[in-house]
Amino acid sequence: MCWGRGPTIYIPENYLDVSTFVVVGGGVVGLFAAYYLKREGADVTLLEMGGLAHSSRAAAGVLEFTKFELNRINVRGYAQRYLGMVRRGKAAVRSLDLAWLVLYLKMYGREPGEETWSFLKEMAQFSRREYLRLAEEQNDFELREEPVYEVVDDVEKEAEALRRDPLGPRFEIGEIDGARAIVYLDPLIISTDLAAERLAREISGVKVVNKRAVKVGDGAVELEGGKVLRADAVVVAGGWWSRRFGVPVAPLKGYGVRAKTEKRPGRTVADFVGGVFVVPFSRWVKITGRFDLDPHPDAKYLPNVLEAAARWVGKADVVDASVGFRPCTPDGLPVLERRGDVVFATGTCRLGWTYAPAMGRIAADLALGRRRDTPITTRRFS
Ligand SMILES: Cc1cc2nc3c(=O)[nH]c(=O)nc-3n(C[C@H](O)[C@H](O)[C@H](O)COP(=O)(O)OP(=O)(O)OC[C@H]3O[C@@H](n4cnc5c(N)ncnc54)[C@H](O)[C@@H]3O)c2cc1C
Repeated sequence: MCWGRGPTIYIPENYLDVSTFVVVGGGVVGLFAAYYLKREGADVTLLEMGGLAHSSRAAAGVLEFTKFELNRINVRGYAQRYLGMVRRGKAAVRSLDLAWLVLYLKMYGREPGEETWSFLKEMAQFSRREYLRLAEEQNDFELREEPVYEVVDDVEKEAEALRRDPLGPRFEIGEIDGARAIVYLDPLIISTDLAAERLAREISGVKVVNKRAVKVGDGAVELEGGKVLRADAVVVAGGWWSRRFGVPVAPLKGYGVRAKTEKRPGRTVADFVGGVFVVPFSRWVKITGRFDLDPHPDAKYLPNVLEAAARWVGKADVVDASVGFRPCTPDGLPVLERRGDVVFATGTCRLGWTYAPAMGRIAADLALGRRRDTPITTRRFS
């Protein structure tokens, strides 16, 4: 055998792998980003420090494509409403990030422009189509089109707020459990537990590495322990943990419970008075609740959620429970942005599942260099 004297390629020992794209975060946004990158034939590694979708699967699974009101935490009057929830024991502030709070005060009452609303409308329409397409292939995540009954303090006031929503929600006023309610007509309902499992199957072929990323940029991702992954581009879809990479997101914590219940609600209920969503599926009822500013992964207020749900389901035997963190920017709008070779895709707050397909698609396009910019970057905070 003859050994030629080719050029020497030095691969440092701490390079674990050579990978074209790395996605940091295996929540619903990261899963969709990995899914679209893989569909483009890219070599993808997904880093997830916990279990896949451990935080995302807490969600109720109500996809509100024509209603952004729920996310507008910076509209005038919201701060008083939130403090009212805290006073009534419906929310808790266990820790506050001062830098986030300063940005919140700066963005308070600020309206996003028409360009942002059109962009969000397109994102919502794309996401809706993608969920329907996935369900048409195989509806193994119990997707259904069905109205949501919203129990609110003041139906007229809520109806007024919905009329002002730039996404133009369709709704009517109806009745549930003897009380007037807003009937929101445009949602899709999915089981997030089953959808997370479906997405995990859809990304087969993607390398999933159970590690925490501690540094991103300059063509590499450093993992806890010092190993390094090389990447042409990195997508940071780390939910509220993206804070460590410079995105202003706060952890609005909540719980999601799958339960066998004494009563089975005939409707999907968003009870804003009790602070719970109750969503029936074929084998369990999903119960979600709380909107606490709290980065701790404990289940301190879970009993309060079950207590509030009792009005709709009676006694609930918990099958499993997850703690979820809604990644909320100071204005409740997401962030989709490329800085150098790093793409940031987070900040979906209460509507992460609703927008996740579009978040993942656009993040993939930014990473692939097919798109340079979006109207929803962090530049709005500076
Ligand atoms: C109780 C509750 C109910 C909800 N209901 C709905 C609903 O009905 N409809 C809806 O549309 N949305 C809902 N949401 C919101 C939705 O769940 C979130 O917006 C969504 O989960 C955010 O997804 P994400 O992928 O951005 O972040 P996450 O779900 O937080 O996922 C981020 C992932 O990244 C991982 N990660 C972070 N940093 C690193 C790192 N450095 N290295 C490796 N891994 C890392 C984390 O472990 C995590 O798994 C709800 C949320 C909660 C809590």
